[in-house]
Amino acid sequence: MSLLDSALGYAHRGWRVFPLHGIANGACTCGRSDCGSAGKHPLVRRGLYEATTDPDKLRSWWRRWRSANIGIATGAESGIVVIDIDLPAALPSLGPLLEHGLTRTLTGLTGGGGIHLVFGTSDSELGNSAGRLPGIEGELPGMDLRGNGGYIVAPPSVHISGRTYEWLYPNARLAVAPEWLKQQAWAPIELGDVAAVELVGDGTPYGLAVLRDELDRLAAAQVGARNHELNRSAFVLAQLVAGGELLEAAVRQSLLSTALSIGLDEAESRQTIDSAFDAGTRSPRVAPHRMRR
Ligand SMILES: [Zn+2]
Repeated sequence: MSLLDSALGYAHRGWRVFPLHGIANGACTCGRSDCGSAGKHPLVRRGLYEATTDPDKLRSWWRRWRSANIGIATGAESGIVVIDIDLPAALPSLGPLLEHGLTRTLTGLTGGGGIHLVFGTSDSELGNSAGRLPGIEGELPGMDLRGNGGYIVAPPSVHISGRTYEWLYPNARLAVAPEWLKQQAWAPIELGDVAAVELVGDGTPYGLAVLRDELDRLAAAQVGARNHELNRSAFVLAQLVAGGELLEAAVRQSLLSTALSIGLDEAESRQTIDSAFDAGTRSPRVAPHRMRR
């Protein structure tokens, strides 16, 4: 099935679709030889915010860009949430995932050797997470959630490796998202619960130390992992902004300039930062020593 026909099929299911850069002659169609997310970043300026189920719009996009990969905006508006399992990085995370229980559902095989588990949901609280899943305690390396404000690359998009994304069983039914997959209710931090802090410039000493660590980690991110790393760092830092450890403007600015310095696309980076902030600010964190027992 052609990319256009597949895009139309997804839209028919109510999934909101938008075009991504494709792969031509072994390289990302954006033309940058060092593209950090080849075949995965939006072709349209507003990215997933332009995602639509309108068949005419999809036809005009794929008529213009025949080899555009397919992005599906995840979240309540499309009615889906996706557990994105990057193998082999996620091998240590499979135990905790299986322990929590999974229902058989529509499963995508990514061109990069990963797995997309697609579940039906109308939960508008489920956002994006990197290296963890709401409802499971602790870190889950290689495992991400794509919900509201996120997207996946869908079959039959072409991966930089030359392989195509495929559905394991294209007619598989969509299971309802597992019960345990729930964003923790936002527990607002009461002012009386935490010791007062003094900001030195853009944050507390604790906040600034974490900020430095995160920026170092982002600057050292491997090609292909950069956007993940940006998403993860922005999420962690947004939690600290919400907890009063850092100033939002300073965090956003330093994340963006670091992202640009490692070759990430500006529009895409802003989007990543926005969506990670959206999710991160819903679960504030403060320095451990500020928590009163
Ligand atoms: Zn590119």
